[in-house]
Amino acid sequence: MDGISQPSPINEEAASKFRAHRNRSLDTQEYLSGIFSGNRTILSKAITLVESSLPSHQAQAQEIIAECLKLSTETGSHTKGHTSHANSIRIGITGVPGVGKSTFIEALGIHLTSKGHKLAVLAIDPSSSRSKGSILGDKTRMEELSVDANAFIRPSPASGSLGGVARKTRETIVLCEAAGFDVIFVETVGVGQSETTVHSMVDFFLLLMLAGAGDELQGIKRGIIEMADAIVINKADGDNLAKAKIARVEYANALHLFPPPGSGWIPEADICSARTKMGIDHVWELIMEHRKVTGETGFFHLRRMEQNRQVFRETIEAGLHDHFFNRSEISHHIASLETEIMNGRLNPYQAAQEMLEKYYRMF
Ligand code: GDP
Repeated sequence: MDGISQPSPINEEAASKFRAHRNRSLDTQEYLSGIFSGNRTILSKAITLVESSLPSHQAQAQEIIAECLKLSTETGSHTKGHTSHANSIRIGITGVPGVGKSTFIEALGIHLTSKGHKLAVLAIDPSSSRSKGSILGDKTRMEELSVDANAFIRPSPASGSLGGVARKTRETIVLCEAAGFDVIFVETVGVGQSETTVHSMVDFFLLLMLAGAGDELQGIKRGIIEMADAIVINKADGDNLAKAKIARVEYANALHLFPPPGSGWIPEADICSARTKMGIDHVWELIMEHRKVTGETGFFHLRRMEQNRQVFRETIEAGLHDHFFNRSEISHHIASLETEIMNGRLNPYQAAQEMLEKYYRMF
C-alpha cells in the first residue's frame, strides 16, 4: 500500500510568484532609490549590472552611474543629505601575496566601522580570481568584516583584461559612494601592472611590505615605491618587531631619495601588526593627515580630476577598440591575415595598414 500521497509542502503558485519577483529585473528608478537608501541587495545587483557585458545591461548601468555621479560636487550639482564623492576617501592597498593584506584590511576595516565609517572593500585581480585561493570575499578571509553591517565586501570582477576590470571597479566605486560608503578600499595582489591601475583610481596608495633580510628594496619595483603615499611594514610583532623598525628607517630613507611629488605630502614609512592591531590606528591617522594636507594644497581634488581625464581617454579608447573588433567582417578578415602572418607570407605592418583601411572605408 502506498498510502495517500501528500501534497507538496511548498505552495507552488506562491513560490513561483516569489521567484519571479526575486529575479525580476529592476527599473532604473528602483535601482537608484535602492542605492540611495543604502540597500545592499540592490547595490549588489547594480554592481552585477555594471559587470555584465550585455549591451542592454550596459545601457542601464550607464544611466544609473550618471545619476549617482550627480551626487558629486566634482561633476556639477550637489545633492545635500547624501554622501558625495567629495566626502569619500578611496584607498588603494597593495603588497605581495602573504604580506597580510586581508588581515590588515580586516583590522583597519573593523577600526573604521567602529568609528562609525561605512566601508566598501573592492578588489582588482585581473588574473581571474576564480581559480586561485586568494580571492577577496573568500569565506576564510576577513571573517569579522564580512559580517559587519557597516562593511560591504565585493570580489574582483572576473573579466579578462586589466582595462576592463579597472573600468568596472571605477564604476563600482561610484555606486558604493552613492550608497553611503565613505571609505573605499581597493585591494590588489602585488604582481605587476595592477598596482598602477589601482593607483589611478584612489586618493591614497598604501604599500604593505615585510621586513626581510638583505636588500630591503629587492622585492618590489622602484616604480611602485615611487607611487606609494605610505609604506607600511606589516607583521611588526614578536621577533619581527626589531627587524621591522630597522626596515622602517631604511624605507623612510629610500622614500626621501625620490623627488617630492608636488602634492605637499612627503610619503611616510610606518610599521604595524595586522595580527595584534599595533599601529593600525596610526595608519588611519596618517591617511587622515594626507587627506588634510592634500585638501589644503588642492592636490586631492586635482588628483581626482586628473583621474577623470584619464577615464575619459580610456573610455574613448575602449569604445574604439570594441567598435573595431566587434565587427564580424573585421574579425573574419583578421583571422585570415593572421594565418598569413604566421606562415611568414605577410608583413605585419602592411597587414595592419590594410586592415585599418578596410575599416575606414566602412564609413
Ligand atoms: P595576503 O595574501 O596579503 O592577503 O595575506 P594574509 O592576510 O592572508 O596573511 C598571510 C599570513 O600572514 C596569514 O597566515 C596571516 O595570519 C599572517 N599575518 C598577517 N598579518 C600578520 C601580522 O601582522 N603578524 C603576523 N605575525 N602574521 C600576520
